[in-house]
Amino acid sequence: MAYLTVPVCQTTEDKFIDEIKSVAVFGPNLLELRTDCIHNLTYDTLENLIKTAKSFSIPIIVTCRDSKEGGMHNHTALVRQEILCEAVRLGADYIDCEFINYQDPKFSQPLLNAMSLKPNCRLIISAHNFDAPFYQLKELYDNIHSANKTAIVKLAYKAITINDCFAAFDLLKERKSDVIIACMGQHGVLSRIIAPKVGNFITFASSASGMESAPGQVSIENMRSLYRWNSISEKTNLYGVIADPVGHSASPAVYNACFDASNFDGVYVPLLVNGDKQTFDAFMDNILSRPWLGFRGFSVTIPHKTNAFEYVCRNGKIDQKAKPIGAINTIAISQNGELSGSNTDYAGAITPLQAICNITGAKTAILGAGGVSRAVAAALTDNGAKVTIFNRTIEKAKELAGIFNCQFDSIANISRLKNDCFDIVINCTSLGMSPNIDKSPLPESCILPNMTVFDTVYNPIETKLLKDAAKEGAKTINGIEMFLEQAIEQYRILTESDADRKIIKEILTKRLTNS
Ligand code: NAP
Repeated sequence: MAYLTVPVCQTTEDKFIDEIKSVAVFGPNLLELRTDCIHNLTYDTLENLIKTAKSFSIPIIVTCRDSKEGGMHNHTALVRQEILCEAVRLGADYIDCEFINYQDPKFSQPLLNAMSLKPNCRLIISAHNFDAPFYQLKELYDNIHSANKTAIVKLAYKAITINDCFAAFDLLKERKSDVIIACMGQHGVLSRIIAPKVGNFITFASSASGMESAPGQVSIENMRSLYRWNSISEKTNLYGVIADPVGHSASPAVYNACFDASNFDGVYVPLLVNGDKQTFDAFMDNILSRPWLGFRGFSVTIPHKTNAFEYVCRNGKIDQKAKPIGAINTIAISQNGELSGSNTDYAGAITPLQAICNITGAKTAILGAGGVSRAVAAALTDNGAKVTIFNRTIEKAKELAGIFNCQFDSIANISRLKNDCFDIVINCTSLGMSPNIDKSPLPESCILPNMTVFDTVYNPIETKLLKDAAKEGAKTINGIEMFLEQAIEQYRILTESDADRKIIKEILTKRLTNS
């Protein structure tokens, strides 16, 4: 069991009490009363806060944080010590004392004396580093644990990269006592979400987005509804999307909703892996050397698709179809730790086309020669289309045409499409993408009624190209359909089960309509 804990940190008694009441609605397992945040802290105020929290039957931690360890006010050591002793007397379930203060018997002995009369109150001894990881994490834990073997050890540090979370997981695995580890900042989010999986005693969640008491906290609402807090256990399978940036990704919402709908024991998390190859490689090495973490696969997106391809080439097996593409968006990890890589943009491109037109022998124009064009060119040429790649930078079109054994031309000659009676046109450039929604890679006059026009751009859903094509009476496919098909294929590879198409479509459409 890990306790989902919301810190309450307000500057006046009234605001503090209001926030306790509003947070209680979300049903946290614990509330942390950050009394150091209050301007005029008195025993009466403390008593009112504790009474309010207790009226909701939620256990409480009372903290009066030293400003040297991130406390908001510069309360004297005597005030902080007296507040903690009084909190014990008033029925706090836990009190938090910084290790730097605990080491001074003049500070800690009165706390221990007060606690000896209230055996149900537990002591948390904490250490914080808001600037960097604790590079000697294990030694610090041992020092605190040796100082008090019954105390809960809390270590909160800033993760500079996601790889700084792994020392925390190792320590939690080897722990000799209850331990709380919070990896702070955007790079530490993983450590917060998977707390029940790795035996973290507590994870701190904010009362709402923008109300974080430390960087990187996820809101309690997202912990429960987006990240399936109540379903995570030591047995839960882990999945995630590797990206930089990762915040905009729809994948956690899509996967977790499908897991929920099918009672699949999994949680899917955002994984902010810095853009460089070294961080990516180190992340994968960290995952593979810790099979007990239970990671079973990843979605991979910008900027890591090529890094992922190269890593899996060295350490696993690449799907035959993904080889000429030179990039993958899916990494699966089998029960015995074998890696396999694939590119589901291939299925994303071909499936919607196969549903409405003939591909074999179809004269097909691919506009663009970037990452998506590679997957689309692989899919179309494999299925017998006669492909010409049109691109602004002709050398890139030539290079791609060489790989897939097809034709190429400059996008400046796009008017050929009408005269040469192309059957299928697929836009793989970013033209028409929000905010440039009035742009199209293809003049309206080049569109024929018997063409199939496919735009991989999905933001907006109906691009100018698709509107023009519909006006001419051509068949159309939008970028959501590609996104949906690639997601369904990826879900199948990663979980060996079928995704709920309706749920994915609803989530994607809702997000894109609101963006
Ligand atoms: P990319 O590697 O950066 O390639 C971009 C392509 O667009 C290049 O060929 C580039 O030509 C061309 N381009 C950019 N601006 C242009 C302009 N003003 N005029 C003419 N050509 C221009 O990007 P990508 O990863 O392939 O992604 C391309 C698009 O695919 C994105 O916009 C995205 O919306 C879409 N996409 C869709 C899905 C889906 O599932 N539906 C998935 C991923 C991506 P140069 O070579 O000359 O620079």
